[in-house]
Amino acid sequence: MIGAPWATIDLAALRNNVAVVRRHAPDAHIMAVVKANAYGHGVSDVVAALTDVDALAVARIDEALALRQRGAEQPIVILEGVFTTDDVALAHKNQLDLVIHGREQLALLADAHPTVPPRLWIKVDTGMHRLGFNAGEVCEAVRRVRQISGTGTVVGLMSHLADAEAPDSADTIRQISDFRELTRSHDGPASLANSAGVLCWPDARFDWVRPGIMLYGASPRGPDHADKLGLQPVMRFQTTLVATREISRGEGVGYGFSWRAYRRTRIGVAAAGYADGYPRHVPSGTPVLVGDRHVPIVGRVSMDLMTVDLGPDGPEKLGDVVTLWGDEALRVETIADHAGTISYELLSRVTQRVKLIPVGGD
Ligand SMILES: *Cc1c(COP(=O)(O)O)cnc(C)c1O
Repeated sequence: MIGAPWATIDLAALRNNVAVVRRHAPDAHIMAVVKANAYGHGVSDVVAALTDVDALAVARIDEALALRQRGAEQPIVILEGVFTTDDVALAHKNQLDLVIHGREQLALLADAHPTVPPRLWIKVDTGMHRLGFNAGEVCEAVRRVRQISGTGTVVGLMSHLADAEAPDSADTIRQISDFRELTRSHDGPASLANSAGVLCWPDARFDWVRPGIMLYGASPRGPDHADKLGLQPVMRFQTTLVATREISRGEGVGYGFSWRAYRRTRIGVAAAGYADGYPRHVPSGTPVLVGDRHVPIVGRVSMDLMTVDLGPDGPEKLGDVVTLWGDEALRVETIADHAGTISYELLSRVTQRVKLIPVGGD
């Protein structure tokens, strides 16, 4: 496969990571977050391999409907809820669980009565100030939802942590204790923890956990943390060298000559660029693996290609495999650090040009 990048999707690693969730939250139900095409991993194959979870979660109704169309039968939660009465009816018809995060959504639910979805989650804003009812509005929201939906409907409380990857975050401690307070007077299920909550905040686990990034083998606290926890990268993003050439000291490489050789060296040209989802703005020095050797990207990443410094005696040749991320020796979190972003963005931005190849399925 010379000349184009691909991404293997290791479903055995995915199952290992589910087991890591279970170890950290043995008493909780797992709502596996598979929004944005399973963080870029290909949602069909990921969902087929996620047999050991209790529900799936997506951001939007179209993502949920696509899963139902592909035959997914497990509970599916729509984390943003819906925004029209038609969509409440669609959610009911397709047995999709809704998050209700504001008065407008309560009104929609009332309009759609009696076609109310099977399970509802009331979202509470405990400090992130993105979605949710204020703490003081929660009792009334729960009462309204129960009134509209009748006794057969499960009504849960959900909130989201804003800063859980930061160690010793006072805000996180407060979010957890405020949420706990609300759950005391509520008899349905409660859910607070994302991956960082699962991994770093035992008090945040409650009845349902909502891991996303950790399922895909990355830790919100970085590559060493992921290593220590035994999280295995699911996506291995790879390509091949399509050319090598020798250049003299002082010669520039790539657009704008942003890097110049400080010695005679061999340059490898790898077939992957920003149109494949590799970040354009990484600086020279960002590592790739050529075979199992770390070598630096030099010069600017272009649309289809990138250049690496193989060194004066680099033995590599056309066709050799280049790993961009997803090896335990080169985790996506490391590339995210170099790119000034987070693993989530890199994974979810791998483009359609990259063929996803599932491996390790049962
Ligand atoms: C995306 C998302 C998650 C998963 O977060 P990770 O940090 O990837 O574990 C959990 N809950 C909500 C509401 C989300 O939007």
